[in-house]
Amino acid sequence: MREIREIALRRPDDMHVHLRQGPQLAGYVADLAASFARALIMPNTIPPIATPEGLAAYRDAILAAVAPSGGGLTPLMTFKIQPGMDRERIRALKAAGAVAGKYYPVGVTTNSEDGIAESESVMGAIAAMEEEGLVLCLHGEEPGAEVLERERAFLPRLAELGRRFPSLRIVLEHVSSSDGVEAVLGLPDRVAATVTVHHLLYTLDDLLGGGLDPHLFCKPVVKSARDRAALQRVILEGNPRFFFGSDSAPHPKASKEGRAGAAGVYSAPVSLALLAGFFEERGRLEQLGPFVSRFGAEFYGLPANEGRLLLRREAWRVPSEIHGVVPLAAGRVLSWRAATENPPH
Ligand SMILES: [Zn+2]
Repeated sequence: MREIREIALRRPDDMHVHLRQGPQLAGYVADLAASFARALIMPNTIPPIATPEGLAAYRDAILAAVAPSGGGLTPLMTFKIQPGMDRERIRALKAAGAVAGKYYPVGVTTNSEDGIAESESVMGAIAAMEEEGLVLCLHGEEPGAEVLERERAFLPRLAELGRRFPSLRIVLEHVSSSDGVEAVLGLPDRVAATVTVHHLLYTLDDLLGGGLDPHLFCKPVVKSARDRAALQRVILEGNPRFFFGSDSAPHPKASKEGRAGAAGVYSAPVSLALLAGFFEERGRLEQLGPFVSRFGAEFYGLPANEGRLLLRREAWRVPSEIHGVVPLAAGRVLSWRAATENPPH
């Protein structure tokens, strides 16, 4: 069998990413734009993205950072759902360009201290989102549950939201457990999930089975081999309701390695290389394109991206730091690389 040297993909989408703000933004944008045509931008900044003005300003800042990077990244904007948001606000957010709203339960991840404590307090906002055709993105972890049980404990809320809002599109973000996978499979087609590269490839043993690896620490935490196998199964089957969202979340090295290390994995520079390796090892390379370039766009009702991204077989060592952040797979030699010298269409 001839070895494949090159993979041509329709330019991919990352349907869940954190870009932060301020001087670091440009570097993070460049890493993302090297591989992705569009990205769904998470709103848990400080202050959160929750007003039309804030959303427009954040999009402008991202676009200003895209230009010098030479890429062609289109940010797909989201807002943070807050108690008491009324219909007018939801309409205005949509008019400002929002495609989705993000539900953060209180205290479950970075900058979620102002998250939702009482789910009833946002039902009006969610009803308005349903009416406006906006997607509901869920950080599906239940505050107060044990850390490995938080996703499972949240799943009844997912089912309840699905029942209560019969035309709402819902995404269980960064699904991490076999129970989460089963829950999505048991719900109608308008309920989907994003899958990260770290939940697809790593387990709790990689995080803390040997030396503690703070750079693999994220919320939800990576789980058991059984959970990982459930994720791999639906991805290898090519189930269109499970699409790529990296949850790439850069934190400076010092904030990861200090006491109370921050939660988040910086995967943007390596996600496509790792995914290509994963699909190739399992003889399912043909599933890479749909997973990163098609299923997410279809779920969101977006046109397919123009242009191609080439991945070349080329051994390269992942740098130990990029923009002061330790990326996923730092120091490892990977065998696929995005051919960034090819300008996007
Ligand atoms: Zn996230």
